[in-house]
Amino acid sequence: MNQEALLKNIQDWQQRIGEASAKWGGAEICGVSKTIDPEIINMAWDGGIRTLGENRVQELLSKIDRLNPEYKIHLIGQLQTNKVKYIVDKVAMIQSVDRDALADEIDRRAVAAGRVMPVLVQVNIAREPQKAGIDEESLLPFIRRLSGMQGLRVKGLMAIMPIADDPEDVRPYFRRMREWFDRLRDMDIPNVSMRTLSMGMSDDCLVACQEGATMVRLGRALFGERHYPIQ
Ligand SMILES: *Cc1c(COP(=O)(O)O)cnc(C)c1O
Repeated sequence: MNQEALLKNIQDWQQRIGEASAKWGGAEICGVSKTIDPEIINMAWDGGIRTLGENRVQELLSKIDRLNPEYKIHLIGQLQTNKVKYIVDKVAMIQSVDRDALADEIDRRAVAAGRVMPVLVQVNIAREPQKAGIDEESLLPFIRRLSGMQGLRVKGLMAIMPIADDPEDVRPYFRRMREWFDRLRDMDIPNVSMRTLSMGMSDDCLVACQEGATMVRLGRALFGERHYPIQ
């Protein structure tokens, strides 16, 4: 991909997302840069991308020294507890917090590093058996537990939708996520601020925006099809 094509993609999606999310006050694009070369990723800065999503710790570590240091990097993929120590001083947010052991480890490592880690709680809103994310019935107790931790701050929610041929099929799940987001915000739980609702990817981001996403995570829409294995 050349810079011209990348900047055009960014501009086009910013436009569509701006329109789809207008009634909610807009949505930020998180550029999902997994498998993409740092040289290309850095070109997205000029298009206005400020947040990157990476889903694998090892890949992130292999690229981070070559990334524009002004990018905010969000960990968006399933995170093993034993990997937290490698990223605790490197990422701006962890979007995939979904279980006690992981939250405990982030808390512990962040306190040791002298920082407070912003996190999103990942919700398995469609109850997919193989999917990461906490179930709805455990969400409130989980967030209450996290609200007592010194080393992290809950800043919102994240969800990954089921694969669907028609994004309309997952609209009810997006809507339900926004209902949780508003409900939790209105509860005013100490140390919990519902600011970011991260949902929607390349194929369903416009529906996500119509239903109240504040952040969409776009990989292929910006950078084109991914090529595995990673460089
Ligand atoms: C890869 C990935 C995305 C982006 O997917 P695209 O379909 O390429 O937009 C978003 N979120 C997560 C958690 C991912 O792993």
